[in-house]
Amino acid sequence: MKIAMMARNPDLYSHRRLKEAAEERGHELDIINTLRCYMNIASRRPEIFYNGEKLIGYDAVIPRIGASVTFYGLAVLRQFEMMGVYPLNESVAIGRSRDKLRSMQLLARDGIGLPVTTFAHDPKMTEEVLKTAGGAPVVIKLLEGTQGIGVVLADTERSAKSVIEAFRGANVNILVQEFIKESGGTDIRALVVGGKVIAAMKRTGAEGEFRSNLHRGGSAQAIKISPEERSTAVRAAKSMGLNVCGVDMLRANHGPVVMEVNSSPGLEGVEKATGIDVAGKIIEFIMKHAEAGKTKTRGK
Ligand code: ADP
Ligand code: GLU
Repeated sequence: MKIAMMARNPDLYSHRRLKEAAEERGHELDIINTLRCYMNIASRRPEIFYNGEKLIGYDAVIPRIGASVTFYGLAVLRQFEMMGVYPLNESVAIGRSRDKLRSMQLLARDGIGLPVTTFAHDPKMTEEVLKTAGGAPVVIKLLEGTQGIGVVLADTERSAKSVIEAFRGANVNILVQEFIKESGGTDIRALVVGGKVIAAMKRTGAEGEFRSNLHRGGSAQAIKISPEERSTAVRAAKSMGLNVCGVDMLRANHGPVVMEVNSSPGLEGVEKATGIDVAGKIIEFIMKHAEAGKTKTRGK
């Protein structure tokens, strides 16, 4: 097979591993810098150009679209889909997962456990929003944040109000969420590939830090997750329509709650913590499913 991987940095651990895993299995994998692609939007003749040449002959595309280039990246991916190239994750599904509010609405619609979450645009509603989220302590999140940046824990009503008002003043969208204290600064990342959890780790925040992101100094360990956690992760992936994703959950007293579904999960933390060849499983999924014209939406 000939696989294209949309990525900007070929040296990232995840990207190196996917390339290695493809080559070990006898496939060719080309890393295509998403932002250097240009496209010809012509009737019935979708094409992508790269370094002066037309991209042709690909059986599958692995989108590793960074959050900051989602808009352009999804356009390139749609173009691949219109050319009949099989996407590991479809453009529409990635689009859903990149919108936190839309994701939570979809997950809630499918009955998946979530932290109590409120969202409002009107700055006059601060008190109501806080009350609806169950009152302090609450977690306040920037809708467009990643890697734990823009996630704030407000312990008291007063600090919650000032944080909400500060974010509002900066004219950014936020979510206000019940603080799941019992998770104790630990979250669970389940890697779902093709409707199965193939690896799971727990991430624990650095001392005194409620955020468990590896980028915020958290550490990762393999864990065995419960059947309920497993089915929650699988249902969350299905709800978003993602073949491959990382589902982040917290262990709440009333069961697992999903915080986020990541369509380009990092492989380093999870492979090192579990020793599982996640990249290999992803390539094997592609080998099993990639057929020309098999994409569902084909860019729609
Ligand atoms: P990001 O997408 O930026 O990583 P998250 O929503 O995943 O943001 O939050 C970052 C971290 O903060 C999580 O991994 C978790 O450890 C912690 N966290 C987030 N929301 C809550 C919550 N409602 N209750 C307790 N901890 C939370
Ligand atoms: N970006 C996420 C973090 O900061 C995930 C990294 C990973 O899964 O390795 O924790």
